[in-house]
Amino acid sequence: MDIALIIALATATGILAWRHWALLRGIRQISHLIRSDAPAAAYTEDLPDTPSLAFQTLAKDARDLIAEATLGRALESSHRTLLESLLDQIDDALLIVDENAEVRFSNRAARRLFPSDQPHTGRTLIEVCIDHHIAETLDLAWRIGAKTQERLHRRVSAAPDGRLERDYLVEAEPLTGYSIGRGAWVLVRDITLQVETDRVRQDFVANASHELRTPLSILIGYLEMLDESSKPTPATLRRCIPTMRRHAERLALLVEDMLTISKLESPESLLNRDTFDLGDSIRDSIDQLTPIIDRQHARLHLELPASAPFLGDRLYWDQVFFNLIENALKQNPEPGLNVTVRLTPADGRYQIEVIDDGMGIPSADLPHIFKRFYRVQKDHAQTIKGTGLGLSIVRRAVEAHHGTIRARSHPGRETAFIIDVPQPLLTALPGSDHTEKAAPDDRAQPVSLATGEDSPAATSHQPAA
Ligand code: ADP
Repeated sequence: MDIALIIALATATGILAWRHWALLRGIRQISHLIRSDAPAAAYTEDLPDTPSLAFQTLAKDARDLIAEATLGRALESSHRTLLESLLDQIDDALLIVDENAEVRFSNRAARRLFPSDQPHTGRTLIEVCIDHHIAETLDLAWRIGAKTQERLHRRVSAAPDGRLERDYLVEAEPLTGYSIGRGAWVLVRDITLQVETDRVRQDFVANASHELRTPLSILIGYLEMLDESSKPTPATLRRCIPTMRRHAERLALLVEDMLTISKLESPESLLNRDTFDLGDSIRDSIDQLTPIIDRQHARLHLELPASAPFLGDRLYWDQVFFNLIENALKQNPEPGLNVTVRLTPADGRYQIEVIDDGMGIPSADLPHIFKRFYRVQKDHAQTIKGTGLGLSIVRRAVEAHHGTIRARSHPGRETAFIIDVPQPLLTALPGSDHTEKAAPDDRAQPVSLATGEDSPAATSHQPAA
């Protein structure tokens, strides 16, 4: 063979071998880069240097794929962060467990409900919650392959509203088709308030039915008696009719008070917002009670400022003052009772006191008097008109205006009901007295109306001679 041919063949083999080696090196480099976790920028620098067009295309495609994968991973991680922070916003405790009931995720509410020095993740549900009811709810969800629910009553060491006995609803549902295999989510919802509202409603219905039943059965009894006697004598009628009227009036009173309570429990938006003077509301209530005041020879002392502007539902405030003053009179029919109504503005609030020097309220009853249908001394109360709803209406009405009411009593000396309510910021209302008190630049700004004279002006309502 010609020596030149041999040299040419050797050179060609050498070039081929070099190119083969360069290709292999390039593929290895790309494969290394694909497997590595390097940031996208690294790929542009480290790409193999080769003249092959096919190879460059392959390298470019690989680089694009890698960039896409990196972006995908970054997005997944930011989605996860976003999802976790959203789940942290919900008030219910949420835990996600894997097929071994090991916690993979717990939100902020769960960390608060099941406090621990160690992270929740990596520990079993029962270790985190220390409650077999929750673990059993999860087991049942897995067994039946569907969502399960259970109620739970727990005692906690601290709660923002101070109620340490709490009710929870536990829900669990299997999760399929996710990376955690046969996992599940477990949700623990605090339903203490809802349970309490349901209980109060049930008690109200039970008590209301009981209160309505007595006058109704008396009325029915009398009606049957009149129906059976072919010709009732005038004496029978004289005996029956006043009793029937009394019980019918009691029924009407009960229904009216129950309606007021249910209206007050509707959302706040149903309250009327009128501008009025609290002193006027007090004086109007007293006017309505004047016949009783005169009959009982009671003395009424009014200590009111010159003005006490207020924004709220006038009808409810009329009822508040009427109920409190009427109670003082009703419970103390003996002559000579002193009732003081004092209104004091201070620090953007009004303090209103209704004080009497009557028989008072025993300390054992004092904590219960604002409860619905609660009446002190049942025997004695039979002779005094009332439904046991008056003070709960008062409390609801005051609370609807963001105020509070409390009572203190030294029987025989002094019984006081004290209301504390914020003076609302009165926005200038077109056509109202307050419009002219708005800011001089005519913009309707909220203006806090000072009462002018803070020193209460005392007046006295003496019984008619
Ligand atoms: P009622 O409709 O029976 O008056 P309330 O809810 O207004 O019901 O009052 C509850 C109970 O509180 C009354 O039955 C009464 O025993 C007691 N009470 C309220 N105010 C006074 C008061 N000024 N003096 C004595 N007892 C009072």
